[in-house]
Amino acid sequence: MEKSLCHYHPAQPATWLCRSCPRHYGDCCTPLNEDAAEETPTCPLCASRLEFLGAANTAQPFWERIPKFFAYGLQTGPMAFSALIALASLFMPSYLVLWLLLFSIATKYFYSVIEASSEAQKVAPSLASAFTGPGFSLFFKQMVVFVLCFAALWLAHDFDSEAIYWLVNIALMLAMPASIIRLALDKTLGAALSPEEVGQVIKAMGWRYLILCAFLFILWQSPSWVTMMLAEGLPQVVLFPVAAFLFSYFTVVMCAMMGYAVFQYQGALGYALAEEDSHNGYPVAEYLRRRAIAEAEIRIKEGQSQQALETLTVALERAPEDLKLNERFHQLLFNLNAGDRCLRHLAHYLPMAARSNPAMAATALLNARKIQPDYLPDDALVCERTAGALLDRHRTKEGLSLLRNLHQRFPDYPHIPRAYLRAARGFAEGLGQIEPAQKLLAFIRSRYPQTPLLSEVDTLAAILERMAAKG
Ligand SMILES: [Zn+2]
Ligand SMILES: [Zn+2]
Repeated sequence: MEKSLCHYHPAQPATWLCRSCPRHYGDCCTPLNEDAAEETPTCPLCASRLEFLGAANTAQPFWERIPKFFAYGLQTGPMAFSALIALASLFMPSYLVLWLLLFSIATKYFYSVIEASSEAQKVAPSLASAFTGPGFSLFFKQMVVFVLCFAALWLAHDFDSEAIYWLVNIALMLAMPASIIRLALDKTLGAALSPEEVGQVIKAMGWRYLILCAFLFILWQSPSWVTMMLAEGLPQVVLFPVAAFLFSYFTVVMCAMMGYAVFQYQGALGYALAEEDSHNGYPVAEYLRRRAIAEAEIRIKEGQSQQALETLTVALERAPEDLKLNERFHQLLFNLNAGDRCLRHLAHYLPMAARSNPAMAATALLNARKIQPDYLPDDALVCERTAGALLDRHRTKEGLSLLRNLHQRFPDYPHIPRAYLRAARGFAEGLGQIEPAQKLLAFIRSRYPQTPLLSEVDTLAAILERMAAKG
């Protein structure tokens, strides 16, 4: 089966589909609202409801995993359980009640394998889990299904038509796995008997349901074949428990396969969100934020910059202090050559970026300078922080330009010594200009003799002294 990928992120498997656009989306583009988990996400482009693809693109098809189902049955849980069945077949007295109890424990265990497998759990249910929790009635519900099947066959037999009899027979056999899956997942007799619900399982898998039936049929026959082969050499007392053990093991393998098939087609089956949801659901504020960012990216990639701007504007009205939203908004305005609007937004964005992510502030400042070559923030701390990030990035000239005459522009700024010490380093290390660096240090010493940075000033002065002597 061909795998679909996210239209905008070709490394991500598709999990959603918009039929009207048509576009595939991955989890990358469709964050989910944790507070409204049952809500279907809508298409970022046309707002129609998306169709969940389940694990169809992320999961390996069940027919490629046959060895894994056999390995699944070899885990401690199923092995212990099969051993228990073997022992019971050998030692349990023939009281009807005891055997009914055993069968209901076994049915409960097998069906819990289907359930665990349908959620793609790798570890099989433990032996202990067979004896606890609800589900002991599953056996009796399954018996009702079988009895009704026999009744249907009986009726078909009455028609005196070989064709009708076999038609009913085959139809019942084909519907059985789907009915069992329904019973295991919904645990109600109604679901196991409802043609609609059973049909939904078959419809979800399409013709691949026939592959499942074929494998299940082979597996179903396997224990009897093996037992028949062993029957020659083994005494009955050994053969009986061996057959019981094999029967149990192969049933676990079958259940693991049925469960996995459900997992693979979970989207179409309506069990979809149980697994996929967990890592993609966010609290409402974070959800709205991620959704806006994803939608803006999609709009930009579609060349719909105005819509991207609108999306981000709305999101920023909700969360004006969100750094990432602001950063996206800034980049978009800059790329659109919306100079005035970009500079206006910078008055809000640059201080925020300087506070929490100076590297972003440095990028924004370089952008601003392309719009307006003498752009200068009107806040001393913003200048200092942004200058630091620019100097770190070896954009020395731009960095120093932010610190020039800082003491005149902001006479009340308490961190002039710190800013000028940084500037002195910038001159010396970035530009190899020792003289202006020494002037700055002299300025700090004369104007701010009380600064706690004096020892650092002295250290740098000594280094500059040596550099000057060498040069
Ligand atoms: Zn759409
Ligand atoms: Zn994507």
